[in-house]
Amino acid sequence: MDIEADLAGSERVRPLVSPGRCEAKGACVDVCPFDVFEIVQIPKEIYQDLNFLQKIKSRVHGSKLAATPNADKCEACGHCLKACPENAIKLVRISG
Ligand code: SF4
Repeated sequence: MDIEADLAGSERVRPLVSPGRCEAKGACVDVCPFDVFEIVQIPKEIYQDLNFLQKIKSRVHGSKLAATPNADKCEACGHCLKACPENAIKLVRISG
């Protein structure tokens, strides 16, 4: 998929991180020009929804997750999608 082409003309998108895939390596934090991401301890309610293998993987990686406290600042550049080694990030269109 060509990220730029797919999102061309889209003004309102935000990144969506898959907790089951994210290994909190922080590549998204490093590449995002708008400081959208932050590595945090995985919230209990998200951890509880992981399956058994995902819980083990999460613990191996320090029970951390890439959160998006500044998701509203996303400019759909696509850098995080390309940088994430786990393909854990999608950009989703939002209404409004
Ligand atoms: S698409 Fe660009 S601006 Fe949006 S979260 Fe990813 S790196 Fe940041």
